[in-house]
Amino acid sequence: MVIKKLNSGGKLTMTSQIDTLEMLQIQLEKDTNQASAFEVAQIQLEKAVKKMNLDPNILAQLKEPEKVLIVSIPVKMDNGTVKVFTGYRAQYNSARGPLKGGVRYHPDVTLDEVKALSALMTWKCAVAGIPYGGAKGGVTCNPKEMSEGEIERLSRRYIYEISSIIGPGKDIPAPDIYTTPEIMGWYIDTYNKLKGEASFSTITGKPLGLWGSEGRREATARGLSYTVELAAKKLSINPLEATAVIQGYGNAGSISAKLLHEQGYKIIAVSDSKGGVFNMEGIDPLEVLIHKNQTGTVSNYSKARFITNENLLEIECDVLVPAALEGVITEKNANNIKAKIIAEAANGPTTPEADEILFQKGIFIIPDILANAGGVTVSYFEWVQGLYGYFWSEEKVNSRLKKLIVKAFSEVSKIAEKEKTDYRTAAYIYAVSQVAKAMKVRGVWP
Ligand code: NAD
Repeated sequence: MVIKKLNSGGKLTMTSQIDTLEMLQIQLEKDTNQASAFEVAQIQLEKAVKKMNLDPNILAQLKEPEKVLIVSIPVKMDNGTVKVFTGYRAQYNSARGPLKGGVRYHPDVTLDEVKALSALMTWKCAVAGIPYGGAKGGVTCNPKEMSEGEIERLSRRYIYEISSIIGPGKDIPAPDIYTTPEIMGWYIDTYNKLKGEASFSTITGKPLGLWGSEGRREATARGLSYTVELAAKKLSINPLEATAVIQGYGNAGSISAKLLHEQGYKIIAVSDSKGGVFNMEGIDPLEVLIHKNQTGTVSNYSKARFITNENLLEIECDVLVPAALEGVITEKNANNIKAKIIAEAANGPTTPEADEILFQKGIFIIPDILANAGGVTVSYFEWVQGLYGYFWSEEKVNSRLKKLIVKAFSEVSKIAEKEKTDYRTAAYIYAVSQVAKAMKVRGVWP
């Protein structure tokens, strides 16, 4: 019997053959018990708050987004029909400044996921020390099955639908999974036409030709490489004698591989959605990227042997970089993870249950809100440059990025040592206290 099951976002998806009703019951119970993305965000907040002396009136306001907009997006498809997509924008907390966060195009986008990611953005901006609140957007669609024209029409209509709540001093969208600098170009053009403006600071992650920032493409991985450098020093790991494994070979993963290789790490395994490759002698990160660009995947690279994404996570290595999807390290595989450092390029790759197991095992997790904060930091630089109409060199962008990431790591590190806690909880304590400070001095209106 083929059945449909509820995934963590509450959506129906096809799953494998399950033979008996009893098994179906067990499967459904398991899925219902699994926390949704927003529930995980709440668990992480509560875990940090337990170690803080936070005003309960502030906590009450931090449990839900300030605003959520759900929009219908009718799109003329190439075959002459009109298809209606659903889009979201969640604005979590604006106490520290304009809201900031990417827009995701993916078939699995749900309101729950967008809300969770908007919370994560709030904490990430606070950890990075940039003057923003957190937001996130998403459209439930499969861009891999759409033509460029259909994606352009969807993008322009989505921005029109949310145009009343965005703007340089309100909320500044950016790219996320399956949204590109070109899509950001359509966003800014649509917004400008609607408002009769020609300025650039409502959208970041734009192409360089539309005043995107130098260094933005590499920023997430560059920030991550700085945090790995600092964590490795703490653990006395010498990069020249150390190994790294990368899951996901897109923007964040492939550039992380390149930058860690430049620090001296031997990259021994990499993967993408079709599987991975492993070679103890090392893999050239640029050669494998060229191979992926030519063939569409790293998994058939001939100078290494095939490995599944599941087995890749369990390879013995110094640094593991999950740079693909959320929820890949769970209570099921956490005990088998043998990395010394996990640097979370992806948002939410580790579940709260796995966090506990990894902390007990002494594995050093650099949490997403610290490890991948380089992307939003350089988006902030792009916004600043756009507002001034004065643009910086790549060297200036990178040195300013380094300064902020090193400071963020040091603040989190101080709290982790004082509270004898893991870096995720420490990062949340730091972020929540920064947001709470701003909320306290603002007060509640009216
Ligand atoms: P991307 O689309 O460029 O790359 C994603 C990669 O993951 C692709 O290589 C894809 O093949 C691979 N992948 C997809 N499913 C997989 C699976 N099941 N197993 C292994 N690999 C799989 O995306 P990106 O921008 O690199 O983002 C990756 C992660 O990093 C996401 O979680 C994103 O939210 C996070 N992130 C990215 C940025 C950024 O600036 N790019 C910033 C912060 C966080």
